[in-house]
Amino acid sequence: MKKYDVVVIGAGPAGYVCALRCAQLGMITACVDAWVGKDGKHALGGTCLNVGCIPSKAWLESSEHYYMLTRKLSAHGIRASEITLDVPAMAGRKDKVVKNLTDGIEFLFKKNKVTWLKGKASLLPDNQVHIHPVLEDDEEMTVAAKNIVIATGSVPRDIPNVQIDGELIVDSSGALDFQSVPSRLCVIGAGVIGLELGSVWKRLGSEVILLEAMDSFLAMADEQIAKEARKEFDRQGLDIRLGTRVMSAEADKDHVVVRYQDGEGDHTIDCEKLIVAVGRKPNVEALNASAVGLLLDERGYIHVDDYCMTNLPNMYAIGDAVRGPMLAHKGQEEGVMVAERLAGEESFVNFDSVPWVIYTMPEIAWVGKTEKQLKAAARKYNVGVFPLSASGRAKAMEETSGLVKVIADAKTDRILGVHMIAPSASELIAEAVVAMEFAACSEDLARIVHAHPSISEAVHEAALDVHGRGLHR
Ligand code: FAD
Ligand code: NAD
Repeated sequence: MKKYDVVVIGAGPAGYVCALRCAQLGMITACVDAWVGKDGKHALGGTCLNVGCIPSKAWLESSEHYYMLTRKLSAHGIRASEITLDVPAMAGRKDKVVKNLTDGIEFLFKKNKVTWLKGKASLLPDNQVHIHPVLEDDEEMTVAAKNIVIATGSVPRDIPNVQIDGELIVDSSGALDFQSVPSRLCVIGAGVIGLELGSVWKRLGSEVILLEAMDSFLAMADEQIAKEARKEFDRQGLDIRLGTRVMSAEADKDHVVVRYQDGEGDHTIDCEKLIVAVGRKPNVEALNASAVGLLLDERGYIHVDDYCMTNLPNMYAIGDAVRGPMLAHKGQEEGVMVAERLAGEESFVNFDSVPWVIYTMPEIAWVGKTEKQLKAAARKYNVGVFPLSASGRAKAMEETSGLVKVIADAKTDRILGVHMIAPSASELIAEAVVAMEFAACSEDLARIVHAHPSISEAVHEAALDVHGRGLHR
Protein backbone atom coordinates (compact mmCIF):
# COMPACT_ATOMS: atom_id res chain seq x y z
CA MET A 1 0.00 0.00 0.00
CA LYS A 2 1.34 3.43 -0.95
CA LYS A 3 2.12 5.60 2.08
CA TYR A 4 2.18 9.42 2.12
CA ASP A 5 3.22 11.94 4.73
CA VAL A 6 -0.01 13.80 4.01
CA VAL A 7 -3.19 12.88 2.15
CA VAL A 8 -5.47 15.86 1.54
CA ILE A 9 -9.08 14.99 0.72
CA GLY A 10 -10.55 17.65 -1.58
CA ALA A 11 -8.82 19.94 -4.07
CA GLY A 12 -10.85 23.13 -3.57
CA PRO A 13 -9.00 26.28 -2.45
CA ALA A 14 -8.51 24.92 1.07
CA GLY A 15 -7.27 21.48 -0.02
CA TYR A 16 -5.12 22.35 -3.02
CA VAL A 17 -3.35 25.17 -1.17
CA CYS A 18 -2.73 22.89 1.81
CA ALA A 19 -1.32 20.20 -0.51
CA LEU A 20 0.97 22.70 -2.26
CA ARG A 21 2.30 24.08 1.04
CA CYS A 22 2.85 20.55 2.45
CA ALA A 23 4.84 19.64 -0.67
CA GLN A 24 6.83 22.90 -0.50
CA LEU A 25 7.77 21.97 3.06
CA GLY A 26 9.16 18.61 1.91
CA MET A 27 6.29 16.28 2.77
CA ILE A 28 5.31 13.47 0.37
CA THR A 29 1.81 14.65 -0.46
CA ALA A 30 -1.24 13.35 -2.30
CA CYS A 31 -4.52 15.15 -2.91
CA VAL A 32 -7.68 13.15 -3.65
CA ASP A 33 -10.54 14.78 -5.48
CA ALA A 34 -13.82 13.58 -6.96
CA TRP A 35 -14.81 16.67 -9.02
CA VAL A 36 -15.82 16.07 -12.64
CA GLY A 37 -15.76 19.14 -14.88
CA LYS A 38 -18.13 20.09 -17.69
CA ASP A 39 -16.00 18.16 -20.17
CA GLY A 40 -16.59 14.93 -18.25
CA LYS A 41 -13.00 14.82 -17.00
CA HIS A 42 -11.65 15.30 -13.49
CA ALA A 43 -10.91 18.92 -12.61
CA LEU A 44 -9.07 20.50 -9.69
CA GLY A 45 -10.17 23.66 -7.85
CA GLY A 46 -13.41 22.47 -6.20
CA THR A 47 -16.46 24.71 -5.90
CA CYS A 48 -14.47 27.94 -6.00
CA LEU A 49 -12.87 27.47 -9.40
CA ASN A 50 -15.51 25.33 -11.11
CA VAL A 51 -18.88 26.70 -9.96
CA GLY A 52 -18.18 29.42 -7.40
CA CYS A 53 -15.90 32.43 -6.99
CA ILE A 54 -14.31 32.40 -10.43
CA PRO A 55 -17.22 31.69 -12.83
CA SER A 56 -19.49 34.03 -10.86
CA LYS A 57 -16.93 36.81 -11.14
CA ALA A 58 -16.49 36.16 -14.86
CA TRP A 59 -20.25 36.73 -15.27
CA LEU A 60 -20.09 39.79 -13.02
CA GLU A 61 -17.37 41.38 -15.14
CA SER A 62 -19.16 40.65 -18.44
CA SER A 63 -22.51 41.87 -17.17
CA GLU A 64 -20.91 45.03 -15.74
CA HIS A 65 -19.41 45.84 -19.15
CA TYR A 66 -22.82 45.39 -20.75
CA TYR A 67 -24.47 47.54 -18.10
CA MET A 68 -21.84 50.26 -18.50
CA LEU A 69 -22.36 50.30 -22.25
CA THR A 70 -26.13 50.26 -22.18
CA ARG A 71 -26.86 52.36 -19.09
CA LYS A 72 -23.89 54.28 -17.79
CA LEU A 73 -21.57 55.45 -20.53
CA SER A 74 -24.02 57.99 -21.93
CA ALA A 75 -23.30 60.14 -18.84
CA HIS A 76 -19.68 60.26 -20.09
CA GLY A 77 -20.82 61.42 -23.52
CA ILE A 78 -20.40 58.00 -25.10
CA ARG A 79 -23.34 56.77 -27.12
CA ALA A 80 -23.38 53.37 -28.74
CA SER A 81 -26.07 51.99 -30.96
CA GLU A 82 -26.92 48.49 -32.11
CA ILE A 83 -25.47 46.89 -29.00
CA THR A 84 -26.00 43.15 -29.09
CA LEU A 85 -25.75 40.62 -26.32
CA ASP A 86 -24.30 37.16 -26.98
CA VAL A 87 -25.00 35.17 -23.82
CA PRO A 88 -23.53 31.86 -25.09
CA ALA A 89 -20.29 33.78 -25.88
CA MET A 90 -20.25 35.18 -22.33
CA ALA A 91 -20.82 31.68 -20.94
CA GLY A 92 -18.07 30.36 -23.23
CA ARG A 93 -15.61 33.01 -21.99
CA LYS A 94 -16.47 32.05 -18.42
CA ASP A 95 -15.79 28.37 -19.21
CA LYS A 96 -12.40 29.29 -20.71
CA VAL A 97 -11.44 31.28 -17.60
CA VAL A 98 -12.43 28.31 -15.42
CA LYS A 99 -10.55 25.76 -17.55
CA ASN A 100 -7.45 27.92 -17.63
CA LEU A 101 -7.37 28.16 -13.84
CA THR A 102 -8.24 24.52 -13.08
CA ASP A 103 -5.52 23.42 -15.53
CA GLY A 104 -3.23 25.87 -13.71
CA ILE A 105 -3.64 23.91 -10.49
CA GLU A 106 -2.74 20.71 -12.29
CA PHE A 107 0.43 22.49 -13.41
CA LEU A 108 1.15 23.61 -9.83
CA PHE A 109 0.62 20.06 -8.54
CA LYS A 110 3.13 18.74 -11.09
CA LYS A 111 5.61 21.51 -10.34
CA ASN A 112 5.45 20.88 -6.59
CA LYS A 113 5.24 17.06 -6.91
CA VAL A 114 1.79 16.68 -5.37
CA THR A 115 0.22 13.38 -6.46
CA TRP A 116 -3.33 13.86 -7.77
CA LEU A 117 -5.51 10.86 -6.86
CA LYS A 118 -8.79 10.81 -8.77
CA GLY A 119 -11.91 9.48 -7.07
CA LYS A 120 -14.08 9.73 -3.98
CA ALA A 121 -12.34 9.23 -0.65
CA SER A 122 -13.65 7.64 2.50
CA LEU A 123 -11.86 7.19 5.80
CA LEU A 124 -10.72 3.83 7.11
CA PRO A 125 -9.28 3.02 10.55
CA ASP A 126 -5.52 3.47 11.15
CA ASN A 127 -5.26 6.62 9.02
CA GLN A 128 -6.00 4.88 5.76
CA VAL A 129 -8.02 6.38 2.95
CA HIS A 130 -10.01 4.36 0.45
CA ILE A 131 -10.50 5.89 -3.00
CA HIS A 132 -13.58 4.84 -4.96
CA PRO A 133 -13.58 5.32 -8.73
CA VAL A 134 -15.84 8.07 -10.06
CA LEU A 135 -14.97 7.80 -13.76
CA GLU A 136 -14.26 4.64 -15.73
CA ASP A 137 -10.50 5.15 -15.82
CA ASP A 138 -10.17 5.88 -12.09
CA GLU A 139 -8.23 3.33 -10.10
CA GLU A 140 -9.73 1.92 -6.88
CA MET A 141 -7.10 1.93 -4.15
CA THR A 142 -6.35 2.29 -0.48
CA VAL A 143 -3.51 4.53 0.68
CA ALA A 144 -1.99 5.16 4.09
CA ALA A 145 -1.16 8.58 5.49
CA LYS A 146 0.81 9.84 8.46
CA ASN A 147 -1.57 12.80 8.41
CA ILE A 148 -4.95 13.33 6.78
CA VAL A 149 -6.37 16.77 5.99
CA ILE A 150 -10.07 16.82 5.14
CA ALA A 151 -11.10 19.65 2.80
CA THR A 152 -14.31 18.32 1.30
CA GLY A 153 -16.02 21.72 1.15
CA SER A 154 -19.73 22.34 0.93
CA VAL A 155 -22.78 21.80 -1.27
CA PRO A 156 -25.96 23.89 -1.72
CA ARG A 157 -28.71 23.52 0.85
CA ASP A 158 -32.17 22.68 -0.42
CA ILE A 159 -35.61 23.57 0.86
CA PRO A 160 -38.76 21.47 1.13
CA ASN A 161 -41.22 21.59 -1.79
CA VAL A 162 -38.68 22.99 -4.22
CA GLN A 163 -37.05 20.36 -6.43
CA ILE A 164 -33.95 21.39 -8.38
CA ASP A 165 -34.36 20.12 -11.96
CA GLY A 166 -31.22 21.74 -13.39
CA GLU A 167 -33.21 23.40 -16.19
CA LEU A 168 -35.87 25.77 -14.91
CA ILE A 169 -35.22 25.41 -11.18
CA VAL A 170 -31.51 25.59 -10.52
CA ASP A 171 -28.99 26.05 -7.73
CA SER A 172 -26.04 28.45 -8.07
CA SER A 173 -24.18 26.03 -10.38
CA GLY A 174 -27.11 25.92 -12.81
CA ALA A 175 -27.43 29.71 -12.66
CA LEU A 176 -23.87 30.02 -13.97
CA ASP A 177 -24.83 28.15 -17.13
CA PHE A 178 -27.85 30.04 -18.45
CA GLN A 179 -27.60 30.40 -22.23
CA SER A 180 -30.12 33.22 -22.55
CA VAL A 181 -31.44 36.05 -20.38
CA PRO A 182 -34.57 34.94 -18.50
CA SER A 183 -37.32 37.53 -18.96
CA ARG A 184 -38.31 37.13 -15.32
CA LEU A 185 -36.03 35.50 -12.77
CA CYS A 186 -36.94 34.60 -9.22
CA VAL A 187 -34.28 33.89 -6.60
CA ILE A 188 -35.02 32.26 -3.25
CA GLY A 189 -32.54 33.75 -0.74
CA ALA A 190 -31.28 37.33 -0.79
CA GLY A 191 -27.88 36.37 0.62
CA VAL A 192 -24.49 36.65 -1.04
CA ILE A 193 -25.21 34.36 -4.00
CA GLY A 194 -28.73 35.72 -4.51
CA LEU A 195 -27.46 39.29 -4.66
CA GLU A 196 -24.42 38.55 -6.84
CA LEU A 197 -26.20 36.35 -9.39
CA GLY A 198 -29.44 38.34 -9.19
CA SER A 199 -27.40 41.45 -10.07
CA VAL A 200 -25.75 39.69 -13.03
CA TRP A 201 -29.07 38.81 -14.65
CA LYS A 202 -30.62 42.15 -13.75
CA ARG A 203 -27.76 43.94 -15.51
CA LEU A 204 -28.28 41.70 -18.55
CA GLY A 205 -31.96 42.65 -18.69
CA SER A 206 -34.00 40.22 -16.53
CA GLU A 207 -36.69 41.36 -14.17
CA VAL A 208 -35.34 39.96 -10.87
CA ILE A 209 -37.38 39.14 -7.76
CA LEU A 210 -35.58 37.97 -4.60
CA LEU A 211 -37.56 36.19 -1.90
CA GLU A 212 -35.85 36.37 1.49
CA ALA A 213 -37.09 34.53 4.58
CA MET A 214 -35.65 36.99 7.11
CA ASP A 215 -37.32 40.27 7.99
CA SER A 216 -34.03 42.15 7.87
CA PHE A 217 -31.85 42.63 4.80
CA LEU A 218 -28.20 41.42 4.79
CA ALA A 219 -28.27 40.65 8.50
CA MET A 220 -24.57 39.73 8.61
CA ALA A 221 -23.44 43.17 7.39
CA ASP A 222 -23.25 46.38 9.40
CA GLU A 223 -26.77 47.83 9.56
CA GLN A 224 -25.84 51.19 8.03
CA ILE A 225 -24.14 49.46 5.10
CA ALA A 226 -27.06 47.06 4.64
CA LYS A 227 -29.45 50.04 4.58
CA GLU A 228 -27.33 51.86 2.02
CA ALA A 229 -27.05 48.68 -0.06
CA ARG A 230 -30.82 48.17 0.01
CA LYS A 231 -31.34 51.72 -1.19
CA GLU A 232 -28.89 51.18 -4.04
CA PHE A 233 -30.36 47.80 -5.07
CA ASP A 234 -33.89 49.29 -5.02
CA ARG A 235 -32.59 52.04 -7.29
CA GLN A 236 -31.11 49.42 -9.62
CA GLY A 237 -34.54 47.74 -9.79
CA LEU A 238 -33.85 44.54 -7.84
CA ASP A 239 -37.21 43.57 -6.35
CA ILE A 240 -36.26 42.34 -2.86
CA ARG A 241 -39.12 40.94 -0.78
CA LEU A 242 -38.34 40.25 2.90
CA GLY A 243 -40.17 38.06 5.43
CA THR A 244 -41.33 35.56 2.82
CA ARG A 245 -42.07 31.86 3.23
CA VAL A 246 -41.87 29.86 0.03
CA MET A 247 -44.60 27.20 -0.02
CA SER A 248 -43.88 25.55 -3.36
CA ALA A 249 -42.26 25.92 -6.76
CA GLU A 250 -43.51 23.94 -9.72
CA ALA A 251 -41.84 23.81 -13.09
CA ASP A 252 -44.03 23.52 -16.17
CA LYS A 253 -42.79 23.30 -19.79
CA ASP A 254 -41.16 26.72 -20.00
CA HIS A 255 -41.94 28.48 -16.75
CA VAL A 256 -42.00 28.10 -12.98
CA VAL A 257 -44.81 28.98 -10.59
CA VAL A 258 -43.56 29.99 -7.15
CA ARG A 259 -46.03 30.28 -4.28
CA TYR A 260 -45.09 32.14 -1.12
CA GLN A 261 -46.60 33.80 1.93
CA ASP A 262 -45.69 37.00 3.72
CA GLY A 263 -47.34 39.25 6.32
CA GLU A 264 -49.88 40.33 3.73
CA GLY A 265 -51.03 36.87 2.61
CA ASP A 266 -50.46 34.40 -0.21
CA HIS A 267 -48.71 35.33 -3.46
CA THR A 268 -47.79 33.68 -6.75
CA ILE A 269 -44.91 34.51 -9.08
CA ASP A 270 -44.71 33.21 -12.62
CA CYS A 271 -41.09 33.25 -13.80
CA GLU A 272 -38.89 31.80 -16.52
CA LYS A 273 -36.17 30.54 -14.17
CA LEU A 274 -35.85 30.02 -10.43
CA ILE A 275 -32.55 30.04 -8.56
CA VAL A 276 -32.42 28.50 -5.08
CA ALA A 277 -29.64 30.14 -3.04
CA VAL A 278 -30.49 29.53 0.62
CA GLY A 279 -27.01 28.74 1.95
CA ARG A 280 -24.61 25.82 1.78
CA LYS A 281 -23.95 22.82 4.02
CA PRO A 282 -20.74 20.90 4.76
CA ASN A 283 -20.02 18.08 2.34
CA VAL A 284 -19.15 15.18 4.63
CA GLU A 285 -21.49 12.41 3.55
CA ALA A 286 -19.00 10.20 1.68
CA LEU A 287 -16.34 10.38 4.38
CA ASN A 288 -17.53 7.53 6.60
CA ALA A 289 -17.09 9.86 9.60
CA SER A 290 -19.07 7.93 12.20
CA ALA A 291 -17.40 4.59 11.35
CA VAL A 292 -13.96 6.00 12.22
CA GLY A 293 -15.23 8.12 15.13
CA LEU A 294 -14.73 11.52 13.49
CA LEU A 295 -16.75 14.04 15.48
CA LEU A 296 -19.20 16.35 13.68
CA ASP A 297 -20.84 19.30 15.44
CA GLU A 298 -24.59 19.72 15.86
CA ARG A 299 -24.83 21.48 12.45
CA GLY A 300 -22.95 18.74 10.61
CA TYR A 301 -19.57 20.53 10.32
CA ILE A 302 -16.42 18.59 11.19
CA HIS A 303 -15.52 19.60 14.73
CA VAL A 304 -12.11 21.31 14.91
CA ASP A 305 -10.18 23.57 17.26
CA ASP A 306 -8.54 26.88 16.30
CA TYR A 307 -5.69 24.94 14.67
CA CYS A 308 -8.07 22.78 12.62
CA MET A 309 -7.31 19.62 14.60
CA THR A 310 -10.21 17.14 14.69
CA ASN A 311 -10.93 14.83 17.62
CA LEU A 312 -8.80 12.13 15.95
CA PRO A 313 -5.00 12.06 16.09
CA ASN A 314 -3.19 13.16 12.92
CA MET A 315 -6.44 14.22 11.30
CA TYR A 316 -7.24 17.84 10.40
CA ALA A 317 -10.11 19.55 8.64
CA ILE A 318 -10.22 22.92 6.86
CA GLY A 319 -12.35 25.15 4.64
CA ASP A 320 -16.13 25.07 4.20
CA ALA A 321 -16.38 21.67 5.93
CA VAL A 322 -15.54 23.31 9.29
CA ARG A 323 -16.86 26.24 11.39
CA GLY A 324 -16.43 29.83 10.33
CA PRO A 325 -17.32 31.75 7.19
CA MET A 326 -17.59 29.79 3.94
CA LEU A 327 -14.98 31.84 2.13
CA ALA A 328 -12.21 30.60 -0.16
CA HIS A 329 -9.50 32.77 1.44
CA LYS A 330 -10.40 31.59 4.95
CA GLY A 331 -10.00 27.96 3.81
CA GLN A 332 -6.72 28.72 2.03
CA GLU A 333 -5.18 30.27 5.14
CA GLU A 334 -6.33 27.30 7.23
CA GLY A 335 -4.64 25.04 4.66
CA VAL A 336 -1.36 26.94 4.95
CA MET A 337 -1.58 26.90 8.76
CA VAL A 338 -2.13 23.13 8.94
CA ALA A 339 0.71 22.41 6.49
CA GLU A 340 3.12 24.63 8.44
CA ARG A 341 2.11 23.18 11.80
CA LEU A 342 2.71 19.68 10.40
CA ALA A 343 6.20 20.92 9.54
CA GLY A 344 6.70 22.05 13.15
CA GLU A 345 6.01 25.75 12.69
CA GLU A 346 3.79 27.81 15.03
CA SER A 347 1.44 29.15 12.37
CA PHE A 348 -2.07 30.37 13.15
CA VAL A 349 -4.98 32.13 11.45
CA ASN A 350 -6.41 35.35 12.86
CA PHE A 351 -10.10 34.64 12.36
CA ASP A 352 -10.93 38.18 13.60
CA SER A 353 -9.56 39.77 10.46
CA VAL A 354 -11.06 37.68 7.67
CA PRO A 355 -12.46 40.11 5.08
CA TRP A 356 -15.90 39.66 3.49
CA VAL A 357 -16.76 40.91 0.04
CA ILE A 358 -20.08 40.87 -1.79
CA TYR A 359 -19.43 41.49 -5.47
CA THR A 360 -22.39 43.67 -6.33
CA MET A 361 -22.17 47.08 -7.99
CA PRO A 362 -20.92 48.89 -5.96
CA GLU A 363 -19.13 46.19 -4.00
CA ILE A 364 -19.75 45.65 -0.30
CA ALA A 365 -16.84 44.72 1.96
CA TRP A 366 -16.03 44.58 5.62
CA VAL A 367 -13.60 43.32 8.21
CA GLY A 368 -13.98 43.13 11.99
CA LYS A 369 -16.93 43.97 14.16
CA THR A 370 -20.23 45.64 13.26
CA GLU A 371 -21.79 48.31 15.47
CA LYS A 372 -24.48 45.81 16.49
CA GLN A 373 -21.88 43.28 17.68
CA LEU A 374 -20.03 45.95 19.67
CA LYS A 375 -23.25 47.19 21.29
CA ALA A 376 -24.12 43.59 22.24
CA ALA A 377 -20.67 43.29 23.86
CA ALA A 378 -21.20 46.66 25.67
CA ARG A 379 -18.00 47.96 24.08
CA LYS A 380 -17.64 51.74 23.72
CA TYR A 381 -16.57 52.95 20.29
CA ASN A 382 -16.33 55.93 17.96
CA VAL A 383 -17.47 55.92 14.34
CA GLY A 384 -16.18 57.84 11.33
CA VAL A 385 -18.05 57.88 8.02
CA PHE A 386 -17.30 59.27 4.59
CA PRO A 387 -19.89 59.21 1.78
CA LEU A 388 -18.65 58.54 -1.75
CA SER A 389 -20.77 61.47 -2.91
CA ALA A 390 -18.05 63.73 -1.43
CA SER A 391 -15.15 61.96 -3.19
CA GLY A 392 -13.60 63.74 -6.16
CA ARG A 393 -12.51 60.48 -7.78
CA ALA A 394 -15.98 58.94 -7.31
CA LYS A 395 -17.52 62.01 -8.97
CA ALA A 396 -15.08 61.75 -11.88
CA MET A 397 -16.01 58.07 -12.21
CA GLU A 398 -19.74 58.87 -11.97
CA GLU A 399 -19.90 56.29 -9.13
CA THR A 400 -20.97 58.32 -6.11
CA SER A 401 -23.17 55.77 -4.30
CA GLY A 402 -21.87 54.29 -1.09
CA LEU A 403 -19.85 55.08 1.99
CA VAL A 404 -16.87 54.00 4.05
CA LYS A 405 -17.14 53.58 7.81
CA VAL A 406 -14.37 53.11 10.38
CA ILE A 407 -15.18 51.94 13.92
CA ALA A 408 -12.55 52.45 16.61
CA ASP A 409 -12.36 51.68 20.33
CA ALA A 410 -13.47 54.72 22.35
CA LYS A 411 -10.56 54.46 24.77
CA THR A 412 -7.61 53.06 22.83
CA ASP A 413 -8.66 54.21 19.31
CA ARG A 414 -7.74 50.74 18.01
CA ILE A 415 -9.67 49.90 14.82
CA LEU A 416 -12.42 47.38 15.56
CA GLY A 417 -14.12 47.25 12.19
CA VAL A 418 -14.15 48.81 8.72
CA HIS A 419 -17.25 48.57 6.54
CA MET A 420 -17.87 49.88 3.06
CA ILE A 421 -20.06 49.94 0.03
CA ALA A 422 -17.93 51.47 -2.68
CA PRO A 423 -16.42 50.88 -6.12
CA SER A 424 -13.50 48.41 -5.80
CA ALA A 425 -14.33 47.74 -2.14
CA SER A 426 -12.80 44.26 -2.65
CA GLU A 427 -9.43 45.98 -3.15
CA LEU A 428 -9.90 48.81 -0.62
CA ILE A 429 -10.68 46.43 2.23
CA ALA A 430 -7.13 45.05 2.10
CA GLU A 431 -5.85 48.30 3.63
CA ALA A 432 -8.23 47.85 6.56
CA VAL A 433 -7.20 44.21 7.01
CA VAL A 434 -3.52 45.18 7.11
CA ALA A 435 -4.27 48.00 9.55
CA MET A 436 -6.16 45.66 11.87
CA GLU A 437 -3.49 42.95 11.63
CA PHE A 438 -0.93 45.53 12.76
CA ALA A 439 -3.28 46.64 15.58
CA ALA A 440 -3.55 50.12 14.06
CA CYS A 441 -5.55 52.99 15.55
CA SER A 442 -7.88 55.15 13.46
CA GLU A 443 -5.24 57.86 14.01
CA ASP A 444 -2.70 55.69 12.13
CA LEU A 445 -4.98 55.44 9.10
CA ALA A 446 -5.74 59.14 9.36
CA ARG A 447 -2.02 60.04 9.26
CA ILE A 448 -1.11 57.81 6.31
CA VAL A 449 -0.76 59.66 2.99
CA HIS A 450 -3.35 58.41 0.49
CA ALA A 451 -2.99 59.14 -3.22
CA HIS A 452 -5.20 61.87 -4.65
CA PRO A 453 -7.56 61.46 -6.36
CA SER A 454 -8.41 57.89 -5.38
CA ILE A 455 -11.29 56.00 -3.83
CA SER A 456 -8.89 55.05 -1.01
CA GLU A 457 -9.14 58.66 0.18
CA ALA A 458 -12.61 57.70 1.43
CA VAL A 459 -10.94 55.31 3.91
CA HIS A 460 -8.61 58.12 4.96
CA GLU A 461 -11.49 60.56 5.42
CA ALA A 462 -13.59 58.02 7.36
CA ALA A 463 -10.61 57.51 9.69
CA LEU A 464 -10.24 61.31 10.09
CA ASP A 465 -13.96 61.52 10.85
CA VAL A 466 -13.60 59.14 13.84
CA HIS A 467 -12.32 62.18 15.76
CA GLY A 468 -14.36 64.76 13.89
CA ARG A 469 -11.41 65.84 11.72
CA GLY A 470 -12.88 65.07 8.30
CA LEU A 471 -11.79 67.65 5.71
CA HIS A 472 -13.92 67.12 2.63
CA ARG A 473 -17.53 66.98 3.77
P1 FAD B 1 -14.69 23.26 -2.11
O1 FAD B 1 -14.25 24.35 -2.96
O2 FAD B 1 -16.15 22.96 -2.01
O3 FAD B 1 -13.91 21.98 -2.61
C1 FAD B 1 -14.10 20.72 -2.03
C2 FAD B 1 -13.59 19.67 -2.99
O4 FAD B 1 -13.60 18.41 -2.32
C3 FAD B 1 -14.45 19.48 -4.24
O5 FAD B 1 -13.64 19.40 -5.39
C4 FAD B 1 -15.17 18.18 -4.01
O6 FAD B 1 -15.45 17.47 -5.21
C5 FAD B 1 -14.12 17.43 -3.20
N1 FAD B 1 -14.67 16.33 -2.38
C6 FAD B 1 -15.71 16.39 -1.52
N2 FAD B 1 -15.86 15.20 -0.91
C7 FAD B 1 -14.90 14.39 -1.40
C8 FAD B 1 -14.52 13.05 -1.16
N3 FAD B 1 -15.16 12.29 -0.27
N4 FAD B 1 -13.50 12.53 -1.86
C9 FAD B 1 -12.82 13.28 -2.77
N5 FAD B 1 -13.12 14.57 -3.02
C10 FAD B 1 -14.14 15.11 -2.35
N6 FAD B 1 -15.90 32.53 -1.66
C11 FAD B 1 -15.11 33.61 -1.67
O7 FAD B 1 -14.23 33.74 -0.80
N7 FAD B 1 -15.23 34.59 -2.62
C12 FAD B 1 -16.17 34.51 -3.59
O8 FAD B 1 -16.27 35.39 -4.43
C13 FAD B 1 -17.04 33.38 -3.61
N8 FAD B 1 -17.97 33.26 -4.55
C14 FAD B 1 -18.77 32.14 -4.57
C15 FAD B 1 -19.75 32.04 -5.55
C16 FAD B 1 -20.57 30.93 -5.60
C17 FAD B 1 -21.63 30.83 -6.66
C18 FAD B 1 -20.40 29.88 -4.64
C19 FAD B 1 -21.26 28.66 -4.69
C20 FAD B 1 -19.43 29.98 -3.66
C21 FAD B 1 -18.61 31.12 -3.61
N9 FAD B 1 -17.65 31.28 -2.63
C22 FAD B 1 -16.85 32.39 -2.61
C23 FAD B 1 -17.43 30.26 -1.59
C24 FAD B 1 -16.22 29.39 -1.97
O9 FAD B 1 -16.47 28.79 -3.22
C25 FAD B 1 -16.00 28.35 -0.89
O10 FAD B 1 -15.82 29.00 0.35
C26 FAD B 1 -14.75 27.54 -1.21
O11 FAD B 1 -14.84 26.92 -2.45
C27 FAD B 1 -14.53 26.49 -0.12
O12 FAD B 1 -13.34 25.82 -0.40
P2 FAD B 1 -13.08 24.34 0.10
O13 FAD B 1 -11.76 23.97 -0.44
O14 FAD B 1 -13.34 24.24 1.54
O15 FAD B 1 -14.21 23.44 -0.61
P1 NAD C 1 -26.18 33.04 2.43
O1 NAD C 1 -26.19 32.46 3.78
O2 NAD C 1 -25.32 34.19 2.12
O3 NAD C 1 -27.65 33.51 2.03
C1 NAD C 1 -28.76 32.63 2.08
C2 NAD C 1 -30.00 33.49 2.29
O4 NAD C 1 -31.12 32.68 2.10
C3 NAD C 1 -30.07 34.05 3.70
O5 NAD C 1 -30.33 35.43 3.65
C4 NAD C 1 -31.21 33.27 4.33
O6 NAD C 1 -31.91 34.01 5.29
C5 NAD C 1 -32.06 32.96 3.12
N1 NAD C 1 -32.92 31.80 3.26
C6 NAD C 1 -32.66 30.63 3.87
N2 NAD C 1 -33.72 29.80 3.74
C7 NAD C 1 -34.65 30.47 3.02
C8 NAD C 1 -35.96 30.15 2.55
N3 NAD C 1 -36.50 28.95 2.79
N4 NAD C 1 -36.64 31.08 1.85
C9 NAD C 1 -36.09 32.30 1.58
N5 NAD C 1 -34.86 32.65 2.02
C10 NAD C 1 -34.14 31.75 2.71
O7 NAD C 1 -25.92 31.80 1.45
P2 NAD C 1 -25.71 31.75 -0.12
O8 NAD C 1 -26.03 33.06 -0.73
O9 NAD C 1 -26.41 30.53 -0.58
O10 NAD C 1 -24.16 31.51 -0.22
C11 NAD C 1 -23.57 30.38 0.46
C12 NAD C 1 -22.22 30.73 0.97
O11 NAD C 1 -21.31 30.83 -0.11
C13 NAD C 1 -22.19 32.08 1.66
O12 NAD C 1 -22.40 31.91 3.04
C14 NAD C 1 -20.82 32.58 1.41
O13 NAD C 1 -20.00 32.24 2.48
C15 NAD C 1 -20.36 31.83 0.18
N6 NAD C 1 -20.29 32.79 -0.93
C16 NAD C 1 -19.41 33.83 -0.82
C17 NAD C 1 -19.33 34.76 -1.81
C18 NAD C 1 -18.37 35.89 -1.66
O14 NAD C 1 -17.49 35.79 -0.83
N7 NAD C 1 -18.50 36.96 -2.42
C19 NAD C 1 -20.13 34.67 -2.93
C20 NAD C 1 -21.03 33.62 -3.01
C21 NAD C 1 -21.09 32.68 -2.00
